[in-house]
Amino acid sequence: MNKPTVAIVGRPNVGKSTIFNRIVGERISIVEDVAGVTRDRIYSSADWLSHDFNLIDTGGIDIGDEPFLEQIRAQAEIAIEEADVIIFLTNGREGVTDADEHVAKILYKTKKPVVLAVNKIDNPDMRDMIYDFYSLGFGDPYPISGSHGIGLGDLLDAVAASFPEAGEEVEEDDVIRFSLIGRPNVGKSSLVNALLGEERVIVSDVAGTTTDAIDTTYEFEGQKYKIIDTAGMRKKGKVYENMEKYSVLRALKAIDRSDVVLIVINGEEGIREQDKRIAGYAEEAGKGIMFVVNKWDAVEKDDKTMNRFTEDIRKNFLFLDYAPISYVSAKTKQRVTTLFDQIKMISENHALRIQSSVLNEVIEDAVARNPAPSDKGRRLRIYYATQVAVKPPVFIVFVNEPELMHFSYERFLQNRLRESFGFEGTPIRLITRARS
Ligand code: GDP
Ligand code: GDP
Repeated sequence: MNKPTVAIVGRPNVGKSTIFNRIVGERISIVEDVAGVTRDRIYSSADWLSHDFNLIDTGGIDIGDEPFLEQIRAQAEIAIEEADVIIFLTNGREGVTDADEHVAKILYKTKKPVVLAVNKIDNPDMRDMIYDFYSLGFGDPYPISGSHGIGLGDLLDAVAASFPEAGEEVEEDDVIRFSLIGRPNVGKSSLVNALLGEERVIVSDVAGTTTDAIDTTYEFEGQKYKIIDTAGMRKKGKVYENMEKYSVLRALKAIDRSDVVLIVINGEEGIREQDKRIAGYAEEAGKGIMFVVNKWDAVEKDDKTMNRFTEDIRKNFLFLDYAPISYVSAKTKQRVTTLFDQIKMISENHALRIQSSVLNEVIEDAVARNPAPSDKGRRLRIYYATQVAVKPPVFIVFVNEPELMHFSYERFLQNRLRESFGFEGTPIRLITRARS
């Protein structure tokens, strides 16, 4: 948890997205093109040797119709705001340009570490080109070639050396971390205020160590909760704060730091495409998930309205059939406090550990009722299963031939596990392995 974040900044065409893709490699795409911007991914997890981190390509955050220099400024400010370490990328073939100096001036204002990289140094003969870049004032420039994959190791060593000390933020096991995610104006801030209320004790209100986010820890009925600060919930006003891509980026970062994600939907408006993408990310990240339909006070209702809305959610989020749905109003506070019980229940399921003996009884029983499939005379045999992780629960099923485990049978086994152990609100994973 709380992986450091690295952002790449630099004027257009220096190779930011090339470098991003190189570092991220073949990871599954987690951020789709949100606002019709050409580049797909601007945020992803990545690793270098033993370091895990998140990487942002600020070049993919398009700041609408702002002039060129304003765009670059906003991207650099986002890097300063969101990252623990900044990679300042330049183009060795063109030397230092005015736009590079413009970026440098903005980066001078931050105390965060900046590592300067000079890209497009495609062969050793070109290394002399980096000397020009000392003038930018960020120390030794690292020569790299994004297209040839040269020099990235040294660059990432320097980046990793600048990561904040691990363990600054002590992970408290007894705290449930959750975030409210949703499009602007669905009522996230209002919900936070309604949740906090006057009667609840605010334990602390501290700035997160890895970002400038403000998390709030408080206690309700003997349980500690931490609300992870999200996109513009408290800070509003800067030119880029309202950019859709930026708010998605903030949401993804908040999801990474949460145990349970509350996907907030405006009851007056219904479900939007962006809700689906964000929910998909939360599920991929293995987080506990629930839906909160807010502004229920403002919805004209008859006795079928809630059922219809529920059907609509189920239809749009087929892969999240396990996520509970709450209908609330931040304005009238209707049912708001019941969210605590839900969050707690989900968090318990998310961390649930099943004894191997009980697990295997359930699997045996499932197989007896619905025999495993066979293919060309070969039948899947399940030897035993064991839980190997929590948050979310992960099970390894040892079998004779993993290819014989089809999606539909896996789904059947998952459903049996859900029926038996009640994993409401949490994804579960099943991994099939050949018994050696
Ligand atoms: P961005 O606008 O900063 O994200 O830049 P891109 O990653 O889109 O790259 C701009 C152009 O530079 C593309 O045509 C890339 O193929 C090219 N490019 C990127 N890295 C290198 C490199 O290391 N060497 C060379 N010769 N070209 C590169
Ligand atoms: P955020 O952008 O998601 O944080 O949304 P806000 O909390 O700022 O709320 C956006 C607008 O919706 C504000 O005008 C709120 O007063 C209004 N609002 C929030 N929750 C409710 C609710 O439960 N019912 C009604 N009728 N309005 C609400």
